[in-house]
Amino acid sequence: MKHAGGLKTNLSQQAKDKTLRTCVACKATHEKQDLLRLIVDGEGQIWPDFSAKLPGRGFYLCLEEDCLKKISDKRLGVLRRDFSPQLPQWEVLQQRIFDMLSQRLNQLLNGVKRQAVIGRDAVMHQIWDKKSLLIMFAADAGDALLRQVNDAMDKRALGEMKSAAQDKTIVSLLDAEALGSALGREKIAVVAFTEKSPLLKLQQISVWQQRLGLMLVKQQGK
Ligand SMILES: [Zn+2]
Repeated sequence: MKHAGGLKTNLSQQAKDKTLRTCVACKATHEKQDLLRLIVDGEGQIWPDFSAKLPGRGFYLCLEEDCLKKISDKRLGVLRRDFSPQLPQWEVLQQRIFDMLSQRLNQLLNGVKRQAVIGRDAVMHQIWDKKSLLIMFAADAGDALLRQVNDAMDKRALGEMKSAAQDKTIVSLLDAEALGSALGREKIAVVAFTEKSPLLKLQQISVWQQRLGLMLVKQQGK
């Protein structure tokens, strides 16, 4: 499934002549904007570059789940061809990326807090609107809430609403208190965002943060 989807995406991307880059860890090719850019500083330390504006040459990671499983210092060794990275670094680097993703996520949430549709009733109401939606649940949102909102989203998709194709539902790593605080409120169990432009970034950063966070938790459990 994943491979078929990836191939289709890549073909349509080439058709649109978007800039493609290869992930140094898994060699998958993606549109540049779908990858995390990183740079290696003068000391050989690796840093995420969210704005893609840090000086120096960069390289890219896709942070797909399969990719994260494969990344190791051995794989990062390929960087030696073009950079002088300090290795081993992956253990420190994954925590560094996670921390910076968490920070970035808070900034992004802060930037969209005015357009946040907060709470179950408001979100349920929004589901019948035509705009495409990014729905974010707190990590500790109850099952009943998840089921209710997801059911409504399924019906929305079945209703052949064009915008529904771009909908996305994310269970955040942030609990209700942290999600609320990022949005300048009290606890928030579910929130919907509708303005398009910042949403892709918000979605991308939350997904990456979630994947890395889950991986770090797993490692600590070992
Ligand atoms: Zn990759």
